[in-house]
Amino acid sequence: MFDAHAHPGKNYPINALVCSASTADFGKLLPFQYKAIGAIPEGGYDVDFSLMAEAASNGWHIGEIGLDRRFPDIDKQMDIFRTALSIAREYDRIAVIHIVREYQKVYDMLKDMGIRRFIVHGYTGSAEMAREYIKLGGIISLGPSAEKAKSFPALLSLPFVTETDMMTGDEEAEALAAWNSRLSALTGIDIAARTEKIMMEALG
Ligand SMILES: [Zn+2]
Repeated sequence: MFDAHAHPGKNYPINALVCSASTADFGKLLPFQYKAIGAIPEGGYDVDFSLMAEAASNGWHIGEIGLDRRFPDIDKQMDIFRTALSIAREYDRIAVIHIVREYQKVYDMLKDMGIRRFIVHGYTGSAEMAREYIKLGGIISLGPSAEKAKSFPALLSLPFVTETDMMTGDEEAEALAAWNSRLSALTGIDIAARTEKIMMEALG
């Protein structure tokens, strides 16, 4: 089992990619094996890019980063996102991407910048768009909220990974196990094993 997207919590599992919404959470990420330092609007618009670059130089991934239409100033969001993507590209790290209602804009940026190593986390967009992201080289990650998306039945046939987007701990582990077995029942595929394989290959 592997959680493709979690946040720093009470324990330090080695089978999770643990991400932050702000560069200010650098210290909370330190104990984790697989980690990404990010900056999304939820974490504020004050981003320490030199800390992000230093972390990337030490093997950390970059995320979560992205665009969120629930928050103001999309131009400022795009500036932050572009700079963070350029750091991920410079150090050849995975970009962990958060998107709310800006799937096309993010796709265009990834394509224009030549970003190939990325995970779109908490995916709830269309299956067509998901296929385009996969064609670029990206990974689509589904959390339990994907089940409410219109595209959910079509997404099931794609090679997705699974996540909780929860703080690491017993509840997160239970939620991941339940989500994986739900998806395995729907697809007939061992989703936990597939996620682990895809994630270990991606993390290299
Ligand atoms: Zn998250």
